[in-house]
Amino acid sequence: GHSNAALLARRAAAVPRGLASATPVFADRAENAELWDVEGNRYIDFVGGIAVLNTGHRHPNVVAAAKAQEDHYTHTSFQVVQYEPYVALAERLNALAPGDQPKKTLLVTTGAEAVENAVKIARAATGRPGIIAFGGAYHGRTLMTLGLTGKVSPYKKDVGPFPAAIYRAPFPSKRDGISVADALTGLQNLLLTDAQPEHVAAIIIEPVLGEGGYLPVPFEMLQELRQLCDAHGILLIADEIQTGFGRTGKWFAIEHSGVVPDLVTVAKSMAGGYPLAGVIGRADIMDRLEPGGLGGTYGGNPVACAAALAAIDAIESEGLLARSTALGAYLHERFSDIAARVAPDHIWDIRGLGAMVAVEFVTDMDSAEPDASLTRAICAHALQRGLILLTCGMYGNVIRVMVPLTASDAIIDEGLASFEAALTDAIA
Ligand code: PMP
Repeated sequence: GHSNAALLARRAAAVPRGLASATPVFADRAENAELWDVEGNRYIDFVGGIAVLNTGHRHPNVVAAAKAQEDHYTHTSFQVVQYEPYVALAERLNALAPGDQPKKTLLVTTGAEAVENAVKIARAATGRPGIIAFGGAYHGRTLMTLGLTGKVSPYKKDVGPFPAAIYRAPFPSKRDGISVADALTGLQNLLLTDAQPEHVAAIIIEPVLGEGGYLPVPFEMLQELRQLCDAHGILLIADEIQTGFGRTGKWFAIEHSGVVPDLVTVAKSMAGGYPLAGVIGRADIMDRLEPGGLGGTYGGNPVACAAALAAIDAIESEGLLARSTALGAYLHERFSDIAARVAPDHIWDIRGLGAMVAVEFVTDMDSAEPDASLTRAICAHALQRGLILLTCGMYGNVIRVMVPLTASDAIIDEGLASFEAALTDAIA
């Protein structure tokens, strides 16, 4: 059979280094929140393919829906021969997304592609070029979305220049001493110094900063952004690619604030493990591009649409929004307890929204220096103990939890016990 080491050697020779992998593990099979590698080792998966598996690996209804679709057709291109699952999913998303206004949905394949299309739609609808994004934001790896992404290394390093008319506003952060008032002042200054408001099409924001460190945007900030957008005719885009489909205890994280965005980008957990993404938005805005102005050969693949309809049904019928809220509260409680007993001088913050929870590590509480090497060591020890973890944050010193919402209490507790043991090992 294959060993992880033998596959890693083949991978090193065949796949570029620029594609980094967080573990040296090669998958054999997976089920809900568990994964087995090619050597038969078992893992608890707290990462879920980077927030894709809110309904778990191979949710039985998602797999069944995809298989049933495969027996009919797997691809026609919606641009050539249309199919009902695309329309059904668009209807479902239009009903789920925040706000009562008429909505329409464009389906694409990846999160970055969703953000690219949201930018195109916002520009066409407003006749304006400018887009404002925030420090620490992550919106993807294509050139427009990299331009919007607010972190140089490793994402933007050596691959610019990026498109014009992208502006950066400060993101509120306790670590950087930026309050909501400071962030809003920074944004107002941006409109005075560089970004002429009548030339700004949209402000794009993750309601909880994802790759940038699992920092929830205070609700009053989202409300202020909505007012500022309305005052200047600027569209508000909520990037819900990581936060959507129950991760924060609601379908979309921005719902916690009561703010209704003009456009929402979605991907990841929408389709329970299949590549699918979309832009949901106000119908009048979504309809502004001429026929042919939007598209892509694979956009809204029928197998992925069938999977998404089943994943959305599962979130609803299994009560996963309530589960997310309860799981989030439990994770906070357990991480706080572990911090107090095991690492009082190294855990600087525990935060999140719903089950989108993260723990931030420092060298010591006095200096509050980000400790990326401790964070890496915890992940490495956790992997040895059969727990898959992933970091995030501008300084790589945050561990985030994206465990399937379908995971049993026993699996969550087993994972937390491995986390505690790994933390103990890493500090020793
Ligand atoms: N936006 C956000 C908020 C994301 O978290 C991600 C992926 N981590 C993306 C966009 C890009 O999605 P994809 O990797 O599917 O292109």
